[in-house]
Amino acid sequence: MSLSVAIIGSGPAAFYTADALVKSDSDCRVDIIERLPCPYGLIRFGVAPDHEKTKNVMRAFAKTAAHEDVNFYGNVEIGKDIGLPELRDMYDAVVLAVGAGSDRAVGIPGEDKKGVFGSATFVNWYNGHPDFRDLNPDLDVKGVVVLGNGNVAIDVARVLVKTPGEMAATDLPDYAADPIQASPLSDVYMVGRRGPNEAKYTNVELREMGHLENCVPQIEAAQLPDSVDGEMSDRDRRLREKNLATVREFVGRTADEKPKRVHFVYYAQPVEILGGDNVEAVRFERTEVRDGRAVGLGEYFEISCGLVVAAIGYTSKPVADTPFDERGGIVTNDDGRVADGLYAVGWIKRGPSGVIGSNKPDGKLAAEQILADLGPGGGKSGRSGLEAMLSERSVRAVDFTGWQQIEAAEIANAREGAPRKKFVTVAEMLAVLG
Ligand code: NAP
Repeated sequence: MSLSVAIIGSGPAAFYTADALVKSDSDCRVDIIERLPCPYGLIRFGVAPDHEKTKNVMRAFAKTAAHEDVNFYGNVEIGKDIGLPELRDMYDAVVLAVGAGSDRAVGIPGEDKKGVFGSATFVNWYNGHPDFRDLNPDLDVKGVVVLGNGNVAIDVARVLVKTPGEMAATDLPDYAADPIQASPLSDVYMVGRRGPNEAKYTNVELREMGHLENCVPQIEAAQLPDSVDGEMSDRDRRLREKNLATVREFVGRTADEKPKRVHFVYYAQPVEILGGDNVEAVRFERTEVRDGRAVGLGEYFEISCGLVVAAIGYTSKPVADTPFDERGGIVTNDDGRVADGLYAVGWIKRGPSGVIGSNKPDGKLAAEQILADLGPGGGKSGRSGLEAMLSERSVRAVDFTGWQQIEAAEIANAREGAPRKKFVTVAEMLAVLG
């Protein structure tokens, strides 16, 4: 008898968990269940289209999927096609790896105006996610405000200002490339509520902003601290010093050097989105950092814009039939253990932070917990139960070979130099399979 494990979701945390389970000494059968016909979650829909190298990890995940003890069931939605309690009845263990795909509200007046988007929505849109394909943001704008100082904020700013040439070797869908390239956009304002030393973006991403073909970074010298002070690890100090050195280099760049500008604005928290039906400006309060926190100073200013992207971090949606920690935006769990036979990994377990590889220890730990808690397992129907239920309910599951056919068609359809042309609807993906 082998231990049967179902993993819900197919992003990095799911694949690292599957890999750890099948590489263990125990006999495990792992089924990865994904709502869309395509696997890889955040790798496909979160990583920026111009960072193709970051997506190379898909090759390792494809090897895991091809393992004889791993099956992939795409186009199967838990909570709709099959209930979580039903799945738990069928499998020894169920692992939630559903990520954090939703936007966190900024919580300020005017947020519901047209032209204001959260970064989950906006990034999914330009990455061809079927649920966001019809977003149609109006990019006939000159100014854009990006809220937040993380890597997602940098991704959004960069994708909006890169030239067609810089985006040629990417999988940016035409429906996003066309309005981005036709946009009269001249100024992007990336606004952080704290200072350059507290910014969360990493140095490689920050430096890239100084080497764009058509866009120059702008920073007011007065916003830069003299040094990196305070208690922190040597590593953190080194990273912050690198960022500070990079933004110092940006200070001397002239505004008319290139047709577009990304303005790095610090010490400003958004207090209101202004305009009529459409956003026309964002009102900010100046801040200073006290004990690591942004504190408002009661001085206000506005930045005109026709588009706002709030890249202030993601959150997870509650999972039906599962306890949810609303404040933390995660499934309630004890280091990954949720309930008997139910586990969580990745962003639904610990929130939306860290890089792709940060999910590897999660997967390893979940595998250890499952094996320690359940021993050899067995006695449950597992895969055969799942397949019987899918067939009984006429659910058209896409297996990994099916996905590879879809992927081959995406590669074949790509324009020269591009890695793939993504199918952007589920119907298009399924049509490849006849
Ligand atoms: P993040 O790194 O947590 O950054 C969120 C930013 O939003 C912070 O600057 C934060 O400021 C700010 N913020 C939060 N609430 C705010 C509010 N109410 N008003 C104004 N600003 C607010 O999140 P992320 O950029 O979404 O990235 C998520 C994770 O994915 C990160 O671990 C990131 O490194 C990773 N990622 C990596 C890459 C890459 O490696 N190239 C690319 C994309 C994403 P405070 O610091 O003051 O809270």
